[in-house]
Amino acid sequence: ELSNRMAVRGVDIIKFLMKQGLMMKINDVIDTDTAELVADEFGMTVRRVSESDVEAGFLSDDIDEEATTPRAPVVAIMGHVDHGKTSLLDALRTTDVASGEAGGITQHIGAYQVRTPGGDAVTFLDTPGHAAFSAMRTRGANVTDIVILVVAADDGVMPQTIESIQHAKAAGAPIIVAINKVDKPDADPQKVINELLQYEIIGEALGGDTQIVEVSAKSKTNLDGLIEAILLQAEVMDLKADPERSAEGVVIEAKLDKGRGPVATVLVKRGTLRRGDIVVAGSAWGKVRALLNERNEQLTEAGPSVPVEILGLDEAPSPGEPLAVVESEARARELTEYRARTKREKATGGINQVSLVDMMAKLGSKKISELPVLIKSDVQGSGEAIQGSLEKMGNDEVRARVVYSGAGGITESDVQLAKSAGAPILGFNVRASKQAKDLADREGVEIRYYAIIYDLLDDMKGVLSGMLAPLQ
Ligand code: GDP
Repeated sequence: ELSNRMAVRGVDIIKFLMKQGLMMKINDVIDTDTAELVADEFGMTVRRVSESDVEAGFLSDDIDEEATTPRAPVVAIMGHVDHGKTSLLDALRTTDVASGEAGGITQHIGAYQVRTPGGDAVTFLDTPGHAAFSAMRTRGANVTDIVILVVAADDGVMPQTIESIQHAKAAGAPIIVAINKVDKPDADPQKVINELLQYEIIGEALGGDTQIVEVSAKSKTNLDGLIEAILLQAEVMDLKADPERSAEGVVIEAKLDKGRGPVATVLVKRGTLRRGDIVVAGSAWGKVRALLNERNEQLTEAGPSVPVEILGLDEAPSPGEPLAVVESEARARELTEYRARTKREKATGGINQVSLVDMMAKLGSKKISELPVLIKSDVQGSGEAIQGSLEKMGNDEVRARVVYSGAGGITESDVQLAKSAGAPILGFNVRASKQAKDLADREGVEIRYYAIIYDLLDDMKGVLSGMLAPLQ
């Protein structure tokens, strides 16, 4: 509940609690003081409310179990390469009865919804394979309700089939097996069924609880049978969501479109997303300017299990990032700034980073009295000159120490050395290689570039004297 209301992942809250020595599970109850501590940590301001506010429904956001409105199942298609995942997704697209008059599914947005003749809907994630599926899961987004495991009838269980089974099981998503390519003369569905037994996938015919459907994506055989199996499984799962609350969703895909700016496909998990809503997704935020479905139709709103493209974000968020509606632009800015900051800190290894600003802080608080630096210069002569001048700087309290000085471009091994010495790199008339730059970004090693010796020395003088002058 706290995670939902703060639009912060539950695992991040649990991790923070663990650091405080509190071992908690996702549904455990924490007391008000702890909740306030958590809120603080994630950059939120807490407003304490009285019991009567709570009773008046002020905090009465219901969780999914209490929701009563059925929602469409969200289905992912997995399986071994070439077994027909893409073909099956294409074939299923054509089963949409709503496509007739509206012109059909015209654009790939990362997910699409088909409507059945009976009036039900099924949402398919349009990125086959488990790479996308696990990428989302590592971000904590469990959007998939049901996994369709595609196995080619002429090929049987293969390594990626097994991997897909493991992924589905880890995510707790029930599997429906689609034995594909049954149109082929050498198709042997029974062999597939037998092979699957080894992985505890037991068909209903053998007394198990897995639905196994034989299809052909190519000749579009028994696609309605597959949809029926999905609807049956969904019914068993009793999938519900509350469409009334403010929307929460997950980013499925995002890109920077030349004409339209950042575009993100969001799968709404609960609530209803509306045009004009202010949303936050990771470190991106914006006012939803337009909602578009896979038929390129403008929508005014999208409810649970509906995938929509949204326009109006300030940048493209990453897939798997949760999206939530917030009450104001100020709130959205506050949240995204906080997230951008923590992302930066994480990317640069937090407190271990090697930047001059950090060093100044440490020196200022007398944690270190030496400023280690690594110098790379175009010619050995200028490196020596810089080293000589730097070593004359400072006094008994603080001074610069050159851990290494060499000629040539900045390389990965320079970055590694700088990292282990806790030193920033000063580049004089040299640049860093792409690999070195990436490594420095990852390791949080600062690289400063100079073309004039005076500028370099002036900069270092500033750093040292900044430390000399007591901060308080
Ligand atoms: P993916 O790698 O799992 O996405 O597999 P594809 O959808 O790209 O299909 C791989 C190959 O199998 C393609 O050449 C398809 O035309 C073919 N294929 C897919 N489904 C069927 C089917 O039901 N019957 C037959 N005969 N071929 C199929």
